[in-house]
Amino acid sequence: MTPNTEHRTPNVIVVGSGISGLSAAIVLALHGRRPLVLEAHNIAGGCMQMFARRAPGGELCRFDTGVHYVGSLYPGQLMWRLFRYLGIDVPTQPLRRECLDRISLPGGDFKVPVGWDAVGAAMRGQCPAEGAAIDGYIATMKRVEGSLNWHALDPDVEGAYDRELYDLTIDGLLQRLGASPRLRSLALAQSSLYGAPADRTPLAIHAPVVGSAIEGPHYVVGGGDAITKPLVARLRELGGELRARADVARVLVEGGRVSGVELADGEVLHADEVILALHPHAAARLMPDDAWRSELRRRLERAPECVGLFCVYGIAQGHEAYAGSNHYLLRDDDPDCFYRPGLDGPADAIVNLPPGNPQLISAMSSARMEWFDKWQGTHTPRKDPEYRALKQRLTDNVLAMIAQRMPGLRVTVVESATPLTLRDYARYPGGGIYGLEPGIDAQGRNGVRRRTRYAGLYVTGAGTGTPGILGACVTGFAVAGSILGTQALIREVRTATDPTA
Ligand SMILES: Cc1cc2nc3c(=O)[nH]c(=O)nc-3n(C[C@H](O)[C@H](O)[C@H](O)COP(=O)(O)OP(=O)(O)OC[C@H]3O[C@@H](n4cnc5c(N)ncnc54)[C@H](O)[C@@H]3O)c2cc1C
Repeated sequence: MTPNTEHRTPNVIVVGSGISGLSAAIVLALHGRRPLVLEAHNIAGGCMQMFARRAPGGELCRFDTGVHYVGSLYPGQLMWRLFRYLGIDVPTQPLRRECLDRISLPGGDFKVPVGWDAVGAAMRGQCPAEGAAIDGYIATMKRVEGSLNWHALDPDVEGAYDRELYDLTIDGLLQRLGASPRLRSLALAQSSLYGAPADRTPLAIHAPVVGSAIEGPHYVVGGGDAITKPLVARLRELGGELRARADVARVLVEGGRVSGVELADGEVLHADEVILALHPHAAARLMPDDAWRSELRRRLERAPECVGLFCVYGIAQGHEAYAGSNHYLLRDDDPDCFYRPGLDGPADAIVNLPPGNPQLISAMSSARMEWFDKWQGTHTPRKDPEYRALKQRLTDNVLAMIAQRMPGLRVTVVESATPLTLRDYARYPGGGIYGLEPGIDAQGRNGVRRRTRYAGLYVTGAGTGTPGILGACVTGFAVAGSILGTQALIREVRTATDPTA
């Protein structure tokens, strides 16, 4: 990324170049603003960034960090529409219709087909006596998705103010419906898509995240770069700029409104509006203490981080029988085992095999931040023998699970990532998979407000809404809506992206 050498005065500064920040900047540029996106890291993309490693055989492999598969990408669906509105073309490939996700549990496998109705039929095949509970579950999922204005792309729905969507958890719903343990397992098995246990996940998180994966799952061919690069090119085409290695140290305010930001090296940049597209805890550290009501600030400080990340990257052989689907390998029939990782024995792993040659593989697992406490004050200690031994131990646990549940698949490990990787490369202070846990303590009336007490200062990013590429992109549009007018922007996106037009 080239630095902004033109020194044009931006009138809006966006801090963070993840999909939320880039989307917000482009939407505002489309409405006449001159955005400058500031990114602390040396490359753009946040969790969409990719990294290269040489495999033991000498091949140069480029791995994705946070774009394994993305939902709602069939023509006319939400992610497809948002990319279209932003003016970018993202190459995609659908996952297998009859099995986008294979759920592997001790109690037996379940193949998740594309579409809620097909999922309902598949659940009935496994739990034949529970037709009413299955119908109730699926009807609720559709109703919740249809009640969230941005997710439904309907300016007139009032779901964001519907307390039940945020106060009732997915666990609470399944209990109300009298779901059996097996049905509960099937409904919750993909919870690692948002990273919160069932008794803390509001319906307003489970329904749109799992729903978008079920309705429109696609690989992004070329990985995160195939989204980041066109977004940055589009931003520049519209007169915006992106500056990497620009570490924002604090937000500047004057007389009740924002006036700009100061970088870690002391440089000051002025703007009429500043959007922090970051982990909410990272955003809070940049703003004046009184930017949020003290009660909200205290609540968010206490709100938990997602379970930590542990991810193994490698090259797979013998993958043919497994291609085209993700494989959720869970130790226990209770999918919340993902939030109770252990140091020994086969570990839960979400295995992703994106299209390509060589066949790259990633296996996302979970870890406790406490295991890494020792290195809290240091940058990721890649060469420390103790750190490497811990990574090897956790890698062996993931490989043991793959050997058990994906016979014939051989993995040559190339790299692994820990909560420290996320802390240092995406600036998630607690190293949680999606940053702040999207649980009841940080959603709905407990959630981050996009507006602050300072005029012109806004906060967005996955932690202010739903995690994932789609969810974070929606938060980028939503913050632009806070500035431009939400209902008008939703209407405009809807009209401009009509697939029949
Ligand atoms: C391992 C993993 C797997 C995932 N898999 C998927 C998947 O398959 N599908 C899916 O849809 N989603 C997936 N996700 C989630 C998805 O990638 C994220 O939710 C989304 O990309 C977050 O976007 P964002 O804009 O909120 O922020 P981020 O991408 O987190 O970007 C925030 C940016 O802000 C920058 N920043 C922070 N502080 C400062 C500062 N002071 N100054 C300047 N810049 C700063 C950071 O460097 C970072 O670049 C995955 C995530 C992870 C970690």
